[in-house]
Amino acid sequence: MDNDNKDDNYEKYCYLCRRPESAAGKLIYMPNNINICQDCMQKTFDSFSGGGMQFIDLSNMPNLNFNQFTPVNDIPKSQKVKKKKEKEKKKEEPEMTLSSIPAPHEMKAMLDEYVVGQEHAKKVISVAVYNHYKRVLTDTMDDIEIEKSNMLMVGPTGSGKTYLVKTIARILNVPLAITDATSLTEAGYIGDDVESVLSKLLAAADNDVEKAERGIVFIDEIDKIAKKRNTNSRDVSGEAVQQGLLKLLEGAEVEVPVGAGSKNAMVPLATINTRNILFICGGAFPDIEDIIKARLNKQSSIGFQADLKDKYDKDDNILLKVNVEDLREFGMIPEFLGRLPILYALEALDEDMLVNILKEPKNAILKQYQKLLSLDGVELRFDDGAYHAIARKAMEKKTGARALRAIIEEFMLDIMYQIPRDDNIGRVTITREYIEGTGGPLLEMRGVLALEQEN
Ligand code: ADP
Repeated sequence: MDNDNKDDNYEKYCYLCRRPESAAGKLIYMPNNINICQDCMQKTFDSFSGGGMQFIDLSNMPNLNFNQFTPVNDIPKSQKVKKKKEKEKKKEEPEMTLSSIPAPHEMKAMLDEYVVGQEHAKKVISVAVYNHYKRVLTDTMDDIEIEKSNMLMVGPTGSGKTYLVKTIARILNVPLAITDATSLTEAGYIGDDVESVLSKLLAAADNDVEKAERGIVFIDEIDKIAKKRNTNSRDVSGEAVQQGLLKLLEGAEVEVPVGAGSKNAMVPLATINTRNILFICGGAFPDIEDIIKARLNKQSSIGFQADLKDKYDKDDNILLKVNVEDLREFGMIPEFLGRLPILYALEALDEDMLVNILKEPKNAILKQYQKLLSLDGVELRFDDGAYHAIARKAMEKKTGARALRAIIEEFMLDIMYQIPRDDNIGRVTITREYIEGTGGPLLEMRGVLALEQEN
């Protein structure tokens, strides 16, 4: 009984066309939980009678045994779609409302707790996300036509693009799907077609279509689907993926497989409307700096600014000056860029920013180690030189903040292994020498610390 009730929360599917009952209309229930929609039933009859067979003949077919079909209810939960909730039920749920979305300054303050630097990007994303959900919740798209706030984020590897989006999704408590543009292919080729990003989103929303329709999709490495520049070869795959994404970005009803990446035979389909889904694309756009510089130099060489010609060569954060024209030059098609109206760049992280990433965020990795060791009653400290030594090492790897974790894990392994061995150790200070491999950490004994405190 209980089981029945649970199952009632899931849609039933047409066995033949795999559409859910909400899309296909009332299903005809047949033995062994096989349900068929009226359209498919009609088609079946038509093909039978077209071949000279009458419906009445069905009962005379000796081999037709419904027991040989897989019962539809055997579809695993991960591939079923939850029924849309009825209106009354919906009220009971704490829902996102206009007053519950944090205002841009509040959202930025929350982001500040986790994301270091990137002031401009945090401001832009806070405003855009706020406007987006305001539009979604008031459903004003149709009458006033507030433009969709899809975004394009340009920033070097490890500068926090993914992290920013993840943090926003967590603050808003909306489902998030992260995909890599390199894995997407045109429909019909080996790889995931563009709709697969919606399948991921649906999975992130526990197969709840309504929740997924308010989610965020982050497509990383978007620069990898640029048209190839300066070649004569007929490589159109990237461009075709951009084309494929257009309708999703704009808003369309898309049929997506539930619980699987591809539309293969027995996967049920759900219809997702992408109108209210926020799409954020991100990419490092390597060497786009040259395009930006060329444009700026061209502008400044006209007229009296000519003397400033090379001033951009030394500008480290030239990326912040990126505009749509540069991206088009890079190989993104105009239609695609047109559907990502909000464009901004993230700064490359410098040594001081990396030090702040080590120290400041609420969930900073070093804080996590401090917490772990404090459970053993050991205090973990880092001297200033140590922070900078870690940051310098990370800078050398040129993968932004991503390098930090690997470096920290390397030197913390010994500490985490050796310290719990000796109960007498009360404080460990990680020094610059230890990070650089020229010395050891500073260990202080409990007894000595206790004496210090007494004095
Ligand atoms: P990418 O820009 O390549 O998407 P990520 O967002 O994946 O980079 O960053 C990798 C990791 O580095 C994140 O998980 C996060 O812990 C850390 N990180 C990067 N940038 C920042 C930042 N500005 N503030 C705090 N942590 C950051």
